[in-house]
Amino acid sequence: MIDFPAGLAEFEPGWVWLVGAGPGDPGLLSVLGLHGMRCADVIVYDALVSPEVLAMAPPEAHLESAGKRGGRPSIRQPDISRRLVMLAAQGLRVLRLKGGDPFVFGRGGEETSALIAAGVPFRLVPGITAAVGGLAYAGMHGGFAAVTLLTGHDTRGGVPLSLNWSALVKAGQPLVFYMALSHLEEIVDRLVEAGCADSMPVVVMSRATTPKQSVVAATLRSCVAEVAAAELTPPAIVAVGEAMRMHKALAWFPSACVTPDIK
Ligand code: SAH
Repeated sequence: MIDFPAGLAEFEPGWVWLVGAGPGDPGLLSVLGLHGMRCADVIVYDALVSPEVLAMAPPEAHLESAGKRGGRPSIRQPDISRRLVMLAAQGLRVLRLKGGDPFVFGRGGEETSALIAAGVPFRLVPGITAAVGGLAYAGMHGGFAAVTLLTGHDTRGGVPLSLNWSALVKAGQPLVFYMALSHLEEIVDRLVEAGCADSMPVVVMSRATTPKQSVVAATLRSCVAEVAAAELTPPAIVAVGEAMRMHKALAWFPSACVTPDIK
């Protein structure tokens, strides 16, 4: 049993804590997040939350799935928000557990807006987002001045129309795309059209930070074929940039599949 440090916030009845579960490795959950899980009456969790993190919930906590995964029947976002409000109104300690960080492509804003509108008090507990966890567990630590996190997929289900591809390429800094596997070909085309060299290193990480972590190291030119050949499945992030050359030398975490063809 962990001795929690003194001074951790008290989880009061009728409150909702929005907690980032991190990318998968249970060790990446914050101490505050774990403390919240240990105090919660009900934990409403997303499909992305790893079983190892869920296993840290106490047996008396009620676990409720609010799984939303692309392509599969899912609970609508407004229904999840309503459910949180309803559970809090019953005087329960409600912990909303979301993969990575609740606010990085996590629709945490919609849930907090609903809580504010209903007058439900809440606390936000940030989590390690997939890009930060993934880059570290694939050995790409540091070495760049900036990093841009992007979604490869907007609420319409397509590659976002609002991205300024030439500005992204011109900046010359790493780009990390979330939710990008199903649109990888289009993303590659947009980057090449915007002037990105097709020899640019690309590292694709599936199930990063978990025992099922798979990494494909390729180039812009080869990544679509390499990802298909390796049969990578979501959740995955796609990291593009010169800094991805570091991957081969710095990989320290066992990955199921590595195809280091970056020259
Ligand atoms: N809030 C989450 C992101 C939710 S969007 C976060 O901060 O990480 C869902 C996308 O996150 C997935 O499609 C994938 O791109 C990425 N993702 C989440 N967990 C991941 C993991 N363990 N490995 C690789 N990508 C992951």
